[in-house]
Amino acid sequence: MSFDFSPYDADRPLLMRCTCGKDHTVAEHQKEQAAQSATTELIRRSQTEEFEAYFNAFVEASLIKAIFPQERERRNFLRAVGKGTAMAAIASVLPIASMQAMAQEAGKKPGTLEKTNLKIGFIPITCATPLIMAHPLGFYSKQGLNVEVTKTAGWALIRDKMINKEYDATHFLSPMPLAISMGVGSTQVPMNVATIQNTNGQAITLANKHKDKRDPKLWKGLKFAVPFEFSMHNFLLRYYVAEAGLNPDTDIQIRVVPPPEMVANLRAGNIDGYLGPDPFNQRAVFEEIGFIHILTKELWDGHPCCAFGSSTEFIQSNPNTFAALYRAVLNAAAMARGPENRELIAKVIAPQAYLNQPETVLTQVLTGRFADGLGNIKTVPDRADFNPIPWQSMAVWMLTQMKRWGYIKGDVNYKQIAEKVFLLTDAKKRMTELGMKAPEGAYPKFTIMGKVFDAAKPDEYVNSFAINKMG
Ligand SMILES: [Zn+2]
Ligand SMILES: [Zn+2]
Repeated sequence: MSFDFSPYDADRPLLMRCTCGKDHTVAEHQKEQAAQSATTELIRRSQTEEFEAYFNAFVEASLIKAIFPQERERRNFLRAVGKGTAMAAIASVLPIASMQAMAQEAGKKPGTLEKTNLKIGFIPITCATPLIMAHPLGFYSKQGLNVEVTKTAGWALIRDKMINKEYDATHFLSPMPLAISMGVGSTQVPMNVATIQNTNGQAITLANKHKDKRDPKLWKGLKFAVPFEFSMHNFLLRYYVAEAGLNPDTDIQIRVVPPPEMVANLRAGNIDGYLGPDPFNQRAVFEEIGFIHILTKELWDGHPCCAFGSSTEFIQSNPNTFAALYRAVLNAAAMARGPENRELIAKVIAPQAYLNQPETVLTQVLTGRFADGLGNIKTVPDRADFNPIPWQSMAVWMLTQMKRWGYIKGDVNYKQIAEKVFLLTDAKKRMTELGMKAPEGAYPKFTIMGKVFDAAKPDEYVNSFAINKMG
């Protein structure tokens, strides 16, 4: 071992270099070692036949559920045509089933991928777990892709880099591709949601001084942060305070703060709280400056949050590449869903290149066993989940909230926009082309704060809210 400290050299800083040769702290060194061994173990798990079988079953079940959101329709279809015919019919129309085959072929035959060097943007939050972990676990390279996952400072930058094609695909907030496709808040560029990245996984965090304000009716005059205007965070915070009788545009202040800056702003007293992504809710508890008031799961269990997507142009001109990318991300989602993998995943995404967070903060978020900052240890295994189906009814709900809060005006063709942006439609379109009766929409109903949302009646829903900004 050589000692390279040079304490008497006036021309260079005195670096306490780690024995591994890198300029980092012992803690950072340990974090990297832990990430390394967790990565090795997860790679081993991903290469078992068991996981391969689980993955294929997971994709198939997700797709069948996407085509037949109503259980009764699925059963009727199977009974009517028989299992064999149904399987053949579904295989012939499912975009992802053919994508899987294509991607497998592409992995074997170099040259079928239109583009192999790709740049993908992400915001360092646990929502992006599948997209991030696919990198160290080698899921992209397994598909023949050389992907650079690029940490990005905020959502406006993600939007701009997608519009100017600096990124090939990206981590989006799921309402963003709707807004960009409509040209709301930016130039109009058609974008697509290929998968939802995560469901649940957000919370409302309040500064410790507001421990006596657990009733949102008491929030008049408070300042809140959300990550972006076109975010589930903004829509859920607005929904929540409006249910308590407050007008989010006049009774409270809502400002946009990039997630990595939320904790610092809470500490500085610039804001009283936020509806933000994790790990920043847990991080506020870890820093002892805030507490978790409510998980968004308690507002809408299974709500979508972030998405994985790209521009329609990229998908159309690089179909094989996109298919390969899709498979890599789905693979990671399948692995991230497994509770037995969560602790290891926390270690994999903790280092500086990814989330740059204390491992314990990420473990609390991903395992759902966490301190809430109010003296309780809670156990909520699905605090964060990774269900990839981009239900079009989710898109319709987002559009109803954009309409409710004045982001879009006039008549909205909810279904048309939802089906154009959220990629589930190809299967149905192809079924119709093949003369099969396509099931009626990917439109399951959802319950948000006790109220059922039926995507078939969006206008009725929007008009049912007394507090709105529709003028
Ligand atoms: Zn080291
Ligand atoms: Zn998210």
